[in-house]
Amino acid sequence: MKLTSILMSGVAIAILAGCNSSNVSNSAASKVSAAASSFNLDPSAAAIEKHMAFLADDALQGREAGSQGYDKAADYVAAEFEKLGLKPAGQDGTYFQNVRLKRAYRDAGAGALFAQKTNGVVIDMENGKDFAIGASISNGQSTVSAPVVFAGYGVVAPKEGRDDYAGLDVKGKIVATLARTPSGIQTEERAFYGSRKGKEASDRGALAVISLETKTSEKVFSFDRLIKEGRLDAARMSWVRPDGGAFSRAPGLKGGATISRAGAAKLFKDAPTSWDEILEMAEKEGGVTPTFELPVKMTITQKSKIDEVQSVNVAGMIEGTDPALKDEVIVLSAHLDHIGIATTDEDDVINNGALDNAAGIATLLEAARMMQANTPPRRSVMFLAVTAEEKGLLGSQYFAKNPTVPKENIVANINLDMPVLTYDFTDIIVFGGTRSTLEPAIKKAAAEMDITIGPDPFPEQGIFTRSDHFRFVEEGIPSVMVSTGFANGGESGWEVHFAEHYHRPSDDMKNNLDFNAGARFAELKTRIAFTVANQDERPLWKKGDFFAKQFNGPMTD
Ligand SMILES: [Zn+2]
Repeated sequence: MKLTSILMSGVAIAILAGCNSSNVSNSAASKVSAAASSFNLDPSAAAIEKHMAFLADDALQGREAGSQGYDKAADYVAAEFEKLGLKPAGQDGTYFQNVRLKRAYRDAGAGALFAQKTNGVVIDMENGKDFAIGASISNGQSTVSAPVVFAGYGVVAPKEGRDDYAGLDVKGKIVATLARTPSGIQTEERAFYGSRKGKEASDRGALAVISLETKTSEKVFSFDRLIKEGRLDAARMSWVRPDGGAFSRAPGLKGGATISRAGAAKLFKDAPTSWDEILEMAEKEGGVTPTFELPVKMTITQKSKIDEVQSVNVAGMIEGTDPALKDEVIVLSAHLDHIGIATTDEDDVINNGALDNAAGIATLLEAARMMQANTPPRRSVMFLAVTAEEKGLLGSQYFAKNPTVPKENIVANINLDMPVLTYDFTDIIVFGGTRSTLEPAIKKAAAEMDITIGPDPFPEQGIFTRSDHFRFVEEGIPSVMVSTGFANGGESGWEVHFAEHYHRPSDDMKNNLDFNAGARFAELKTRIAFTVANQDERPLWKKGDFFAKQFNGPMTD
């Protein structure tokens, strides 16, 4: 590798600086100096290809959480950890952490919604046209009958001085909210507020939430597509608490429904503000609308088949060498599951998930190998393959809430989800990077390979809230996700991946993959891990950061 000598001098400087200014004992210091002189990285494209080929093989059936294919993938990762000599970091001295998952399928025929005006006139609501009812993970069967209160977007954002529930009493009622979130709020914070709409309603005593299609939500993912693509027939999942119930942030909600624009127009007939006016206001900056009780009483019935499946997270550890820092753990994570078998009638129905996320796991394994081949860093590094990311970041949520090391010892999470390994990347995207001191560390590690950090190309999507690292954020832990960037062919690489292969059977090994890019990504990952694990200061949120304040994370002064 042509950059090895540059790297070695860089790491030596970092490590020596660390020795001078911290309370490392003499013996640890000399060990660390020895590490600097023998530091060597030799990423292997062949190893990346081998791991990806195994994980993305048809034999693994798309690695859906709870399936045999997933379990084979987990056994593979554990066997590789063992070969590398990583310390088991699961439960009971193994590499595995059991994750019980509850799974719910809707009984489509049993779902019903009945609405009538307060004056008794029945509103003619048609299933599949005006409304749709999905599965419930908490209630095998439920019927909710209550008045309907319209709460605008249903967003509560104290920082913005916004409370869409102000002046409303929703206790014992059904809350109607506009789908998605209003414009004019920082996009990552906005995505976070959007993810809490059910909780806000539940916290205020509501019994159900119905989501109303807007002009924007129709453009992004329409009610029509929801029906045509059978999305509501897919399993909903959550993880099981020790008492046997499904984990939920909105335990008060007993039902829900999705309402099309046509259905909403029927419900808003005779409302204080017309549906057309509400739709216009919803699209304006801030999306503020009047809120009011609708002159409607509604009954929502749903029935779900609920069962339980067993899955696992896989965890291995390289223990740190610095007596003062070794208890601190940097978690490198990647999700091991994918979305299983497609329900289309095409020839190839196996979603192999080569880039999503066999690529992330392959680079994680290769980074573990390279790290293990060098003298260990000062802090400990955990390599974590999680289950059920595709079901709602569940394996990572289970781990972050029930970690196999003391939670206060986890000082950072660096997550790898779907590096697009189809081009020779020259920059990376660090989602959430500017929020913590992780960014300068990552910048430094990337510079050792002449790799730069590019801007978030999808700010409107709030990606920072949408992969496994966010479950660590919710526990206050500084976290980022690192992806390949848009420079040097990246933009079209991403475009092609999203347009043609993302969450489709063609995300497979026949795709135009660049295993050298995979090797470089693994090297970058290793450098980042060494840099963060060897620096004097633990990673901290930047003072005043929104998510640090939200989740009580440690901040800079
Ligand atoms: Zn995915």
